[in-house]
Amino acid sequence: MMWLVRMRRPCRELILWFGRMRAGWCCSACMATQCLDCRRGLRMPEVMQIRNPRLVRALRAALDVHGVRLLEQVEVQALEVAHGRVQGLRVSGQAMLADAVVVTAGAWSARLLRDLGAGALHLPMIEPVRGQMMVLNAPHSGLQRIVMSEGRYLIPRKDGRVLVGSTLEYAGFEKMTSAAARESLHAFALRLCPALAGVPIEAHWAGLRPGSPQGIPYLGAHPEIQGLFLHAGHFRNGLV
Ligand SMILES: Cc1cc2nc3c(=O)[nH]c(=O)nc-3n(C[C@H](O)[C@H](O)[C@H](O)COP(=O)(O)OP(=O)(O)OC[C@H]3O[C@@H](n4cnc5c(N)ncnc54)[C@H](O)[C@@H]3O)c2cc1C
Repeated sequence: MMWLVRMRRPCRELILWFGRMRAGWCCSACMATQCLDCRRGLRMPEVMQIRNPRLVRALRAALDVHGVRLLEQVEVQALEVAHGRVQGLRVSGQAMLADAVVVTAGAWSARLLRDLGAGALHLPMIEPVRGQMMVLNAPHSGLQRIVMSEGRYLIPRKDGRVLVGSTLEYAGFEKMTSAAARESLHAFALRLCPALAGVPIEAHWAGLRPGSPQGIPYLGAHPEIQGLFLHAGHFRNGLV
C-alpha cells in the first residue's frame, strides 16, 4: 500500500492514497449542499457512477462491431461434457458445439454447474444475495454527490432522480420486493437528506447479487473439466 499525503487547493483537503483509491477529509465547500446534515466525511473524488443500461448497450454495440453473435432470451439447460472435456451446451432444446464455455450466470452459476453435474467437489461457493433499491424523483434535493453511510448510499443523477440503495438479504432465489425494505430504505434516505421528504418514490425493485466468500469472484479455468471457465461471484462490484 502506498501512502501519499498532500494538500490541494481550493479544497485544502488532505489527500491520502489507499492503494489505488484516493480519499481526503471533506472541507466545508465539499460538504456544502442544502441536503446533508453531516459535519465530517471522507471525500473520495474518484468514486463515480455509471448508468448500467447504457453500459450494457455500449457492450452490445462493441460486440456487434466485433461480429459476435448473441442469442437472447434463451436458457442454458445442459453442459455437455465427455472424457473430462467440455463438448458444448444444450440451449433451449438445441445442441451447440463448443471448445470452451465460460459460465457467467451470476447468482445462478453454482446452481447451474451443480445441475449440470460439473465436478461437485469443485463447485464455486456462490449464493444469491438480494438487493433492493428505489429511485426518487427529486429535482430539488440539493444533493450533488454520491453519499455513502451505514453501508447504504444515495446517488444523485443528472436528471434530478436520486437512487437509494441497497439492502443485503440472504433470501435464496426469491427476487420479490418487500414493504419492510421499502420503508427502511426510505427512512435511510430521509435521515441522510431531509429535503427528500414528500418526494414521490418512482420505482422500487430487487435484484440478486452473486455473493461469494469475501466478495472475491471466481475467474479462470475449472480445475477438473477442460475447456470450462468461470467468471462469476462478483458480489457487490460486478460493474465497477
Ligand atoms: C440492488 C443492487 C445494487 C448493486 N449495485 C452495484 C454497484 O453499485 N456497483 C457494482 O459494481 N455492482 C453492483 N451490484 C452488483 C452487480 O449487479 C453484480 O455484481 C453483477 O451484475 C454481476 O454480473 P454477472 O454478469 O456476473 O451476473 P448477472 O448480472 O446476475 O447476470 C447473470 C445472467 O445470467 C442469466 N442466467 C442465469 N442462469 C442462466 C441459464 N441457465 N441460461 C441462460 N442465462 C442464465 C441471468 O438471467 C442473468 O441475466 C448491485 C446488485 C444489486 C442487486
